[in-house]
Amino acid sequence: MNKMTYEEIVRFHGHECPGVAMGYRMATAAMNELESIRAEDEEIVAIVENDACGVDALQCVTGCTFGKGNLIFRDYGKHVFTIYCRSSRSGVRVYFHGKGIPQKLGEDRSALTQWILSASRDSLLSVEPAPISEPEPARIRKSIPCSVCGEKVMESRLNQLDGKPICIPCFEKQQ
Ligand SMILES: [Zn+2]
Ligand SMILES: [Zn+2]
Repeated sequence: MNKMTYEEIVRFHGHECPGVAMGYRMATAAMNELESIRAEDEEIVAIVENDACGVDALQCVTGCTFGKGNLIFRDYGKHVFTIYCRSSRSGVRVYFHGKGIPQKLGEDRSALTQWILSASRDSLLSVEPAPISEPEPARIRKSIPCSVCGEKVMESRLNQLDGKPICIPCFEKQQ
């Protein structure tokens, strides 16, 4: 994948905002750090701890997407991205602390965006090595037909009704 410029990422995201600038700084910092531990072309996986604007920048910078199965969302509500190499399970964790953000920026979102883009890394982020210990979930799961609509459903998403497999939309209709 060709690297996208910041301007292209803003176009992809649909607007410029502090969140996309944060995500851009976080993802590029992580990729720079990862370069030193990553074998040539080794596949990477990203774990994001929020689903806000910055995740669009992360997808563009790292190439990790839900569709490829190498983007994992953990709903912790934190400005943290962890990116790791799939085979060696070594990676980096980036946390946006924003400690250096000047108070005078206040509510001025565009000034804040510009500041985030030009600030030194350490005034924005902490970047730490992150060993990944847990195994990844299997990427291909068995699918089983729903007993009501007959459509195939990933096993992990099936409910049971009277001992029969049922998909989530059909299950909700029965309530
Ligand atoms: Zn945004
Ligand atoms: Zn169904």
